Amino acid sequence: ENDINAISIKSLEITSNFPLCSTNLLDGLISTHHLKYLGRQQFGLFLKGLGLSLEESLKFWANEFTKSIGLDKFEKEYKYNIRHSYGLEGSKINYKPWDCRTILMKSRPNKGEYHGCPYRDFSKDQLKLKLSNMGLNENEILTVLDINSKGDYTNSCTKVLEFKTKGEVMDHITHPNLYFERMRSFSQ
Ligand code: SF4
Repeated sequence: ENDINAISIKSLEITSNFPLCSTNLLDGLISTHHLKYLGRQQFGLFLKGLGLSLEESLKFWANEFTKSIGLDKFEKEYKYNIRHSYGLEGSKINYKPWDCRTILMKSRPNKGEYHGCPYRDFSKDQLKLKLSNMGLNENEILTVLDINSKGDYTNSCTKVLEFKTKGEVMDHITHPNLYFERMRSFSQ
């Protein structure tokens, strides 16, 4: 049974299981009604990995983008790309969601961009705030910041998941979709 659709994907039941990179992309999309190319790729493929169908994906992006642009423009400029990432256009490759390594290899986000890994791209203060929003307490936040200062960002993400699952999930995070799956099976 697939309960992932254009509407449910924005519900707390789903988004509370997102790793920080995906939360950041969703926040960017909701606040600006737009995401630039790399953001659309990173987030679109992540959502596809959650089981969002092409049809629901088109609805989801249209719902957000048409808060600032017309449906015509959306269909002309963005629909092709979404169909492309589901393997229906161009070279017809059925693209896989990006793992952390791929995400960390892409160019860093400029101002107004939301792709990338927040553990690398955010300032310490920004990160503190986000970790507190994720429900970590002060000690946990300090532990994560300490790990993060060593520069292995997937270790920080792994530690966050460990804290959020009260130590039950200890898998090393190498993929945002792995984080989501582990977090979701813990919270269900
Ligand atoms: Fe996302 Fe991977 Fe960074 Fe975690 S470590 S925030 S899953 S890119």
